[in-house]
Amino acid sequence: MRRKLVVGNWKMNGSRAANASLLSGIVAGFDAAQADSAVCVPAPYLAQCEAVLAGTPIGWGAQDVSAHASGAYTGEVSAQMLAEFGCRYVIVGHSERRAYHAESSELVAQKAVAVIGAGMTPIVCVGETLDEREAGQTNVVVRNQLAHVLERLDAYGVAKIVVAYEPVWAIGTGRTATPEMAQEVHARLRAQLAEKNAVAAGKVQILYGGSMKPDNAKELMAQPDIDGGLIGGAALKAADFLAIIHAAA
Ligand code: PEP
Repeated sequence: MRRKLVVGNWKMNGSRAANASLLSGIVAGFDAAQADSAVCVPAPYLAQCEAVLAGTPIGWGAQDVSAHASGAYTGEVSAQMLAEFGCRYVIVGHSERRAYHAESSELVAQKAVAVIGAGMTPIVCVGETLDEREAGQTNVVVRNQLAHVLERLDAYGVAKIVVAYEPVWAIGTGRTATPEMAQEVHARLRAQLAEKNAVAAGKVQILYGGSMKPDNAKELMAQPDIDGGLIGGAALKAADFLAIIHAAA
């Protein structure tokens, strides 16, 4: 049986003071029996997460990474650097990076490989825009996004990723995919993973992301192939984040 995983994506939010109170609220209310959990924070706050969360069951991670190991890449942060700060997860291919930084699926795949190479777990985001959904392209789009990553992994590598299905039209909009819509895509993604490694596919956590909130989390995570959530807005309030973790149990 797969354990549920609830990951907060803080995006570009936070301050040392706000983080201290959010993290202590999460730590105080967290029950590891309910789900695995982690927060993916802006890179400058990784040391703060390490200081507060080390020794707790809550993991931490980053929201992006360079595909390069080191060198003349001003502004970039390597996977090895993130590993040095104890990161367990790194989000790659978030739709905001694909849209605002023109990240291709090929680059996302290189980043996923870099993350695995540094001993961490990439959370590979896939998802269609509203136009793509309305044109009946959802399955083709997400299959193609995931395929780029799978092409770069051997059969064992499949077990080393987390996948997040995040329909772009549901992110930060308050519109959520229905549990049935999400389940259909998740089942297809798992079948795609199984083409590479059937045993590993049964173990990979596939998260749903897109306006998951305390009041819709339980229904979404009750679906057989929805193994948790990638949470944006609702991860910024300890009570809401904890309620989603509770809903995973
Ligand atoms: C996200 O940014 O990954 C996300 C799912 O955001 P929100 O929960 O705010 O829709």
